[in-house]
Amino acid sequence: MATGKINVQVENIFPLIKKFLYSDHEIFLRELVSNATDATNKLKHLVNIGEAKVEFGNPIIEVKIDKEGKKLHIIDQGLGMTSEEVEKYINQIAFSGAEEFLNKYQDTAKDSGIIGHFGLGFYSAFMVAEKVELITKSYKDAPAARWICDGSPEFTLEEHSKTDRGTEIILHIAEDSLDFLEESKIRELLTKYNKFMPVPIKFGTKQEALPTPEDAPEDYKTEYQEVDHIINNPSPAWTKAPADLTDEEYKNFYHELYPMQFEDPLFHIHLNVDYPFNLTGILYFPKLSNDLQLQKDKIQLYQNQVFVTDSVEGIVPEFLTMLKGVIDSPDIPLNVSRSYLQADGNVKKISNHIIKKVSDKLKSLFTENRADYEAKWNDIKIVLEYGMLSEPKFYEKGGEFFLYPTVDNTYYTLSELKEKIVINQTDKDNKLVVLYAANKDAQHAYIQAAKEKGYEVLLLDSPIVSHLIQKLESENEGLTFVRVDSDHVDHLIKKNEEKISALNEEEKDKLKGIIENYIQKEKFTVQLQAMDSTQLPIMITQPEFMRRMKEMSATGGGMFGMGKMPEIYNLVVNTNHELSNQILNNSDSAVQEKLVKQAVDLAKLSQNLLQGEELTSFVKRSFELMK
Ligand code: ADP
Ligand code: MG
Repeated sequence: MATGKINVQVENIFPLIKKFLYSDHEIFLRELVSNATDATNKLKHLVNIGEAKVEFGNPIIEVKIDKEGKKLHIIDQGLGMTSEEVEKYINQIAFSGAEEFLNKYQDTAKDSGIIGHFGLGFYSAFMVAEKVELITKSYKDAPAARWICDGSPEFTLEEHSKTDRGTEIILHIAEDSLDFLEESKIRELLTKYNKFMPVPIKFGTKQEALPTPEDAPEDYKTEYQEVDHIINNPSPAWTKAPADLTDEEYKNFYHELYPMQFEDPLFHIHLNVDYPFNLTGILYFPKLSNDLQLQKDKIQLYQNQVFVTDSVEGIVPEFLTMLKGVIDSPDIPLNVSRSYLQADGNVKKISNHIIKKVSDKLKSLFTENRADYEAKWNDIKIVLEYGMLSEPKFYEKGGEFFLYPTVDNTYYTLSELKEKIVINQTDKDNKLVVLYAANKDAQHAYIQAAKEKGYEVLLLDSPIVSHLIQKLESENEGLTFVRVDSDHVDHLIKKNEEKISALNEEEKDKLKGIIENYIQKEKFTVQLQAMDSTQLPIMITQPEFMRRMKEMSATGGGMFGMGKMPEIYNLVVNTNHELSNQILNNSDSAVQEKLVKQAVDLAKLSQNLLQGEELTSFVKRSFELMK
């Protein structure tokens, strides 16, 4: 038996490791299972190239809890180590690796949250163990070795009687880490980090029904046997070639990835990049609702099938972080801060590649089966809108597959839309006017009015749509977006159907005066307009620009630091309607007041502006009018 002292500068590295990495204790299991996987893969390689003349077989990794003994075992059937190798790899290399890690990241790691992303390796075992035992038998013809270390730089290394190839790590769990002896805890960790590792991992046993004998009697009771429970899927879908996967298999993998997710994804994108570094993965478009609630199931990042994190900001363009799926890359530099990552040219290239792949996929879905693509539009539009706004590269491509639905569910691309409206939807400045509604129900009357004139009305109902419209206008000269209930609508109407007013100037002034008597003048501007007599007598419109700015600042426009903006509305009065006449010519001012108030309230009601006290007195007045 040999004892020795590990040569380190930091006198007692273990308490440091423990304290320093407090919040990430659990990664020890990921590290040890990764080492076991590496050892198995290395042996496979050596057997393949003829260097190791042993039977590779079907090696597995076993994780075992010994609750009474307060021990956790991680056992592999990999290449093992001779005692010289233990000396070299464990005492020297692993140790210096751990030390280097500490020196390098002691100051920065805490803030940047990189710990969990960066392996401390073998020595992370000491985060939960007061003593670590390593028993290993190399595939080479050499006796097995047993190494024990209790957390001080002293260690023991001796020969051992183990005869089967591979390594067993025994963690003597420390008193403050006893929860790592709970089956549920270990299962949770294995599922989190090791679910897709390439070597089968056995954890416990499970009951499996034995086949029913052919001559079984009616009341035959099924018998069960205990079988190994393999907790991982060693060959997850993203490691396979797209040609070898069916749609069904892609879907199944989605549900395997997110067991609590019951809805199928809409479609997937298989990623396979090898420049500037290797990256594989599958992204899924889930059904997204309008309210962007924080999503629990996020894109997961793996390195060589080991789970690293589910925060992929910086690697995946922000608008695509709403998607789901996996990304696996051995090369993404995760031991750096997020801001560094975002500035890294290679990472940027990957991000651009992902944008391109996603655009290509959308384009092909659109061209191959437009009806199906349209049917999915509502569920994907949020992502696309964010993409159009935040990524110039995506905006460029978006013209080909970004759709503008009408209130009647017809879908246009922007160029189709322009063609459609060029005929009769120009305003007096000859700008193309795209009419849109943000809410089919709330703006029903306005939509009706526009449709009756043969105008196309889009339904743009996402929370960020005002930003998108602003962008579209600045990118497309001669194009204006106008909400159906905004004042610009009047321009359109004015140009296309100039009507002669039934009232002369004097009468108009008088009417305006009467109405202004009974309204809040700081909030409403009275506009007299000669319209068709069949149109509504009074309508409320809102200045498009004002309303849009307000929406933009509400949804984080950033640049609009203009605080609370005033509410300003137009009260558009149809001078050709019979009611205008009645108000004007009634000699009883009490009746005039009633008529004006009732009409204005009705207009407010249809804009959802009638609330509280006003609503109460409206209801009261309406009942009185029925008498
Ligand atoms: P890394 O895995 O990054 O090399 P570790 O600290 O995790 O660093 O491990 C150090 C070294 O110890 C490994 O490179 C390997 O040579 C050896 N080692 C660790 N665990 C095992 C194991 N289960 N079987 C064989 N060798 C191992
Ligand atoms: Mg390792």
